Amino acid sequence: MAQQHRKLLIIGSGPAGYTAAIYAARAMVEPLLVQGMQPGGQLTITTEVENWPSLIEIQGPELMVKMEEHARAMGAEIKFDTVNKLDLGVRPFRATCDSGDVITADAVILATGAQAKWLGLPSEEKFQGFGVSACATCDGFFYRGKQVVVIGGGNTAVEEALFLTNFASKVTLIHRRNELRAEKILQQRLMKNPKIECVWDSEVVEVLGEDTPLGVTGIKLRNLKTGAESVLDTSGVFVAIGHSPASELVKDQLELHDGGYVKVEPGSTRTSIPGVFAAGDLTDHIYRQAVTSAGMGCMAALDAERYLAEHHEAGMPAPDMAQIEPATA
Ligand code: FAD
Ligand code: NAP
Repeated sequence: MAQQHRKLLIIGSGPAGYTAAIYAARAMVEPLLVQGMQPGGQLTITTEVENWPSLIEIQGPELMVKMEEHARAMGAEIKFDTVNKLDLGVRPFRATCDSGDVITADAVILATGAQAKWLGLPSEEKFQGFGVSACATCDGFFYRGKQVVVIGGGNTAVEEALFLTNFASKVTLIHRRNELRAEKILQQRLMKNPKIECVWDSEVVEVLGEDTPLGVTGIKLRNLKTGAESVLDTSGVFVAIGHSPASELVKDQLELHDGGYVKVEPGSTRTSIPGVFAAGDLTDHIYRQAVTSAGMGCMAALDAERYLAEHHEAGMPAPDMAQIEPATA
């Protein structure tokens, strides 16, 4: 176990975290970034990314390796570890990692992202990135002229279905009830769209596909009222049953929106605790894109840098080493 004090700790290694690290390192703040259990974040589980400006196409994992290299090249220190406890009630703030290491910091940027909720089927996992997606904005383009299905009945599912009609020849929305949760205006647009059909009271029991090359060919459905099973041909399955922000570390310490997203002051990344900033999907239930997350990461670094400059002038409280267990390594 080791202990160290930093002016700035960044938690999370998706586009928000790495961008914050690039900006903070260039501002000579000497940030430490803790990567978490998914170095590179959500983009490491996708294939082609075609909407990162300047790169017409890049594989998600490759883009994230480049971001990590960029952050390192600018001087950010990157640690492969996961924060399992974050105490924002003490100054300096105090993070404990899975390795046992303790990091105290004058400012913290939270960039722990969000995870799409999945149905939990083994076949769904098998075809993730090969016909199963949780992001129509990201992957819709690959389904030009093809049939796709969207699972879910909320705003996201309806918006994804409408968006997919720009590419797909037909979109089938599959919902487990016979009433949508989505706003009425979206429902109206959905019903009016000739490319969209709805299948009600149904759940997906299996995603069907081929191994060589790996790809989806259909889904097996069960009608929840009759129990009848059927097969629907499709090339793409878009799961849109909600997202869970990774706010577990701070849920009892910071103000959150319904659904667990960290609240920030409009137009900034300031949270309800001065010195704690949040960026990316952790704060955002609307855009949820790599480029918007990166933008917020930049904002968080600038906000943190300003906060540190103001507070260092006024005198930052020194780390209370008595609170830190003695280092053994
Ligand atoms: P994330 O990418 O979610 O990263 C969160 C990070 O926090 C991870 O590194 C994780 O390890 C870390 N973390 C979490 N908890 C802890 C902890 N306790 N301690 C330390 N670290 C922690 N967007 C696009 O713009 N274009 C696309 O083509 C695209 N395709 C996508 C495809 C898929 C399948 C998915 C799921 C998403 C896609 N997105 C795409 C959305 C995009 O990936 C996200 O908007 C973006 O990754 C969010 O970035 P983030 O930095 O906020 O968080
Ligand atoms: P949501 O509102 O929670 O809806 C999730 C949908 O998925 C529900 O219809 C739910 O069914 C279904 N579902 C959940 N688990 C399922 C499972 N295991 N199997 C099958 N279906 C399942 O999530 P969301 O649509 O992502 O929206 C999240 C929040 O963001 C909401 O507050 C929403 O209003 C907001 N949002 C707003 C906009 C906008 O304003 N334009 C756009 C997108 C999202 P049931 O209905 O049966 O529970």
